[in-house]
Amino acid sequence: GEFSSWSGQEERIFVSVRVRPLNEKEIAANNVSDWECVDGNTIRFKQALPDRAMGPTTYTFDRVFGSDSLTKQVYEEGAKEIALSALGGINSSIFAYGQTGSGKTYTMTGITEYAIADIYNYMHMHKEREFVLKFSGMEIYNEAVRDLLRSDSAPLRLLDDPEKGTVVERLAEITLKDRNHLHELLSMCEAERKVGETFLNETSSRSHQILRLTIESSAREYERSENASILVSQMNFVDLAGSERVSQTLSAGARLKEGCHISLLTLGTVIRKLSKGRHGHIPFRDSKLTRILQNSLGGNARTAIICTISPARCHVDQSRNTLLFGSCAK
Ligand code: ADP
Ligand code: MG
Repeated sequence: GEFSSWSGQEERIFVSVRVRPLNEKEIAANNVSDWECVDGNTIRFKQALPDRAMGPTTYTFDRVFGSDSLTKQVYEEGAKEIALSALGGINSSIFAYGQTGSGKTYTMTGITEYAIADIYNYMHMHKEREFVLKFSGMEIYNEAVRDLLRSDSAPLRLLDDPEKGTVVERLAEITLKDRNHLHELLSMCEAERKVGETFLNETSSRSHQILRLTIESSAREYERSENASILVSQMNFVDLAGSERVSQTLSAGARLKEGCHISLLTLGTVIRKLSKGRHGHIPFRDSKLTRILQNSLGGNARTAIICTISPARCHVDQSRNTLLFGSCAK
């Protein structure tokens, strides 16, 4: 299909950066933007580096989106081709990585919307195939997996299926009737994530959310002789926990590593190893997040990471951490 022929670059992870605008608080506090998008691929720190800072002042990515960019553009240039490869049978994952308040949820919500519009449009244009779409939503908090479509759900276990790989036991998987149905389910997930938040004090900054579309397609009767293939693939939209947790965890040492952030740390390791080629041991099994996403990260899969940063001077250390993470993923 048109989305499965991505000119020999399928091994690479596509890494982009999005800078959000300064918000009113930051403007009122006389924060200034220290970042300059030099061109579509390069972002530069404008100030002289403070003594304690290490590392480069200029960073290059597959794409850099400045603070005046629209989510539509971030989608078109940073996610669309990869996300939609799932329509051609290739698993895909789109991640948002960055500190709390940098625009992960804002960006992923928009991207998910645009992808859904494109999926339904594609199905409409490809009547020669029959599509079945299924949807699941889950959240990982403290290495416990929770179903976002079942508010009473106890933590879900991960099982190893000889054919499917890691599956989330008893995770609701809803066959979609239409696009409105999908929007209802997305709203349910959003509401459920907020419920968790009021109980657990800002969980969304500490939890990972995975929204997953499973796309099955087969040629209709009259086409079958030509193309009998049945394609099944997953499209994942992943809104990660705030990346400030990684630096906090690293500085707090091994004691804290057991808890919240093992998934974020392991994701970093897995992505760094994948970016150096898909050989050698890749520790997918070290965290819930990477186990659940293993088939959408390694093998027949494509991945895009959107690193979101705040432009504000007060966030410069976190922004640089995020850019360093993104640089390692390329
Ligand atoms: P995160 O999920 O990383 O914690 P959010 O997506 O919730 O951050 O964004 C924090 C705030 O900034 C929200 O009020 C959001 O609407 C706003 N925001 C984020 N990115 C943008 C953007 N590119 N343009 C305008 N507002 C943004
Ligand atoms: Mg968020």
